[in-house]
Amino acid sequence: MTSNDTIISKTISTDTTPIMTPELLQKYDVSGPRYTSYPTADRFVEAFTEESYKQALEQRRVGGMALPLSIYVHIPFCESLCFFCACNKIVTKHHERSAEYLRYLSKEIDLHVTHLGTGQTISQLHLGGGSPTFFSDDELSELMSMIKRSFVLAPGGEYSIEVDPRTVDENRLAHLASLGFNRLSFGIQDFDPEVQKAVHRIQPAEQVFSLVEAARRLKFDSINADLIYGLPKQTPESFNQTLQKIIELRPNRIALYAYAHLPERFKPQRRIDAYELPAAQAKISMLSDAISSFLNAGYVYVGMDHFALPEDDLAIAKRQGRLHRNFQGYSTQPDCDLIALGVSAIGRVGATYSQNAKTLEEYYDHLNLDHFPVVRGLALSRDDLVRRAVIMAIMCQGELQYESIELAYMIEFKSYFAAELEALQGLEKTGMVMLDENGLQVTDMGWFFVRAVAMQFDRYLQTDRTRAKFSKII
Ligand code: SF4
Repeated sequence: MTSNDTIISKTISTDTTPIMTPELLQKYDVSGPRYTSYPTADRFVEAFTEESYKQALEQRRVGGMALPLSIYVHIPFCESLCFFCACNKIVTKHHERSAEYLRYLSKEIDLHVTHLGTGQTISQLHLGGGSPTFFSDDELSELMSMIKRSFVLAPGGEYSIEVDPRTVDENRLAHLASLGFNRLSFGIQDFDPEVQKAVHRIQPAEQVFSLVEAARRLKFDSINADLIYGLPKQTPESFNQTLQKIIELRPNRIALYAYAHLPERFKPQRRIDAYELPAAQAKISMLSDAISSFLNAGYVYVGMDHFALPEDDLAIAKRQGRLHRNFQGYSTQPDCDLIALGVSAIGRVGATYSQNAKTLEEYYDHLNLDHFPVVRGLALSRDDLVRRAVIMAIMCQGELQYESIELAYMIEFKSYFAAELEALQGLEKTGMVMLDENGLQVTDMGWFFVRAVAMQFDRYLQTDRTRAKFSKII
């Protein structure tokens, strides 16, 4: 056994689960969705049109007015290109493009107000991108004014923004706090200067440390740090140094993602030299080191790449079985309709998902004609709804009582999911799930592969051909 093997065993094994081995890590390193939605976005169809979206909004107006909304705003601009990037973004130094984009966001908000009425309550707001901090302070103020004119921000809601550390200073963070943001998410990825150079994203550790200290002084409720392992020039040793710095930084939440090298799909990744990427075994070492470092430092493994301090709302929600999952990952807020604004943004209203046009030109064209820029989506079938409930219960609670699904959807669970339950027996043998007469439970070890468990219930993932489109779990 190598030292890494020992770490994995110590970290993940419990009295009820078998020892985790590198073989298991390797075996379940299969492609799979992250289940921020079910069905996943690749199942959306163009037959879902603006009309379908309007109907969903009308139905909400009739039936769901009392429930708070969630809003996501996509701001696509970035000043410089990170080579690992797989986001929908536009790299530009022309900041005047923001003003035009804001005008269209305003149109899109107005269209929603026409269909939903004014004064709807929001309990969650997230600004993502791209880099939301590409907007100037004045532009961010204007965006928030637009939102506050049309919606009511509930006290105690989650108001978060993704922050590129290269684009902010303490004054800008103070401005974000004054606008009502109470959560910041810093894109850190890796502190190693060589890695930063290889991915074209230079941001010295000292800069991030001073921003996080400033954010604490400004009393932001929660600070998240995004990390990526599997980047070029990363080694288990260099990544371990980043991990130690992160532990010193002590963000409330950590999101740890595996880099998926898919240059045929994501053009920026063609700038990465594949020979500089760490081998699979090194990636497994980095993952196991990260897991053990964070757990030993007192973090709770929330699920699917996410860690949180025990006193953080996310860790509390996990303990109390109140976790939810949406397009931004795990959340403490109950499932609610998500209005998505901006180019390529994905929303969820009632039993539908919808996505806006992916190019600025098309997005602007729709809005110029006073049309919603929705170009694809999905109206969920009854089977989709049943499976969504099952998959989200697995991803968020790690357990499922068959009876709860039977009562909610009027099915006989064991016959409806006979094939899936049979397939799960393979995972039961590896110690990832425990099955009994009444339900299933994901084990401590299974949490680290929770999407492999959820995938068993995904009707769309019947062929390996489909699976190949998704990133590896590890
Ligand atoms: S990783 Fe973020 S900041 Fe970098 S190019 Fe992509 S969206 Fe922009």
